[in-house]
Amino acid sequence: MPELPEVETVLRGLRGCVVNCRITAVEILHPAIIAGPCQRFREGIQGREIAGLERRGKALALRLRASDGDEAGYLLLRLGMTGQVVIANHDVALAPHTHVRLMLNGGPKEIRYRDVRRFGSLRYCTRQEMEQVFGALGPDALEMTEREFRGRLNGRKGAIKGWLLNQKYIAGLGNIYADEALFEARIHPSTPADRVSSAQTKKLFEAVRHVLQKAVALQGTSFRDYVDIDGRPGNYLPRLKAYQRDGEPCPRCGALIRRMIIGGRSSHFCPRCQRRPTRYKTLGGHSVP
Ligand SMILES: [Zn+2]
Repeated sequence: MPELPEVETVLRGLRGCVVNCRITAVEILHPAIIAGPCQRFREGIQGREIAGLERRGKALALRLRASDGDEAGYLLLRLGMTGQVVIANHDVALAPHTHVRLMLNGGPKEIRYRDVRRFGSLRYCTRQEMEQVFGALGPDALEMTEREFRGRLNGRKGAIKGWLLNQKYIAGLGNIYADEALFEARIHPSTPADRVSSAQTKKLFEAVRHVLQKAVALQGTSFRDYVDIDGRPGNYLPRLKAYQRDGEPCPRCGALIRRMIIGGRSSHFCPRCQRRPTRYKTLGGHSVP
């Protein structure tokens, strides 16, 4: 599932090739992928120029402008589980599960949205609607300060892993980078958020930034479907230390990485480097045999 580094990679790719392009034709091959009425979507974006790109967490938006230069709303993209945004020439055969094509400057270049599982969506938004969408999210995980991080963690009672995944506290992390950040900070994923010490909070804040920055530099992680706008997979996969490494030795201490279900999601951790707190009851975890 695309997380912050993958969405940032798509944003950087698009920034390099679609800014100042006009969307001259809109083809919707699978209407269910459009959030809201297709006609509103089409009218909102057709003929508009792409003025720039914005991102918060995993949400990506193309800022649109009218031919007179006035702002003209946003095209909001949510990649869901398997969404892909690629740039292709109009005459190149469509990959299966391509749902939307946006022709740029009369062709041949176009933006294609492809999504096998169709949990993603495209939506036309006014500025006000866009602000509501971004406003419902916490600060972006790459831009938040340590003070914001502490403030949002303060007093939370659930498992720290669930807190990291909750987009209203911190926007951008999914299962991959949450596990990697907890591994780097040596915190057990089922530790109650209000039992994470001040020193551990600092380590976790730094680990989140470090892991995300490194993943952005390597164009993200590709498990199944994620590719950049040229169709290339990310390069972070070999750098993963805990995520889906269960049964393999911890790169720090050699103990075997384990997997546990916490809040309905798989968590991967080193049982030796990431000690389960013993003084307090831990939350919601059970071992996977
Ligand atoms: Zn270890």
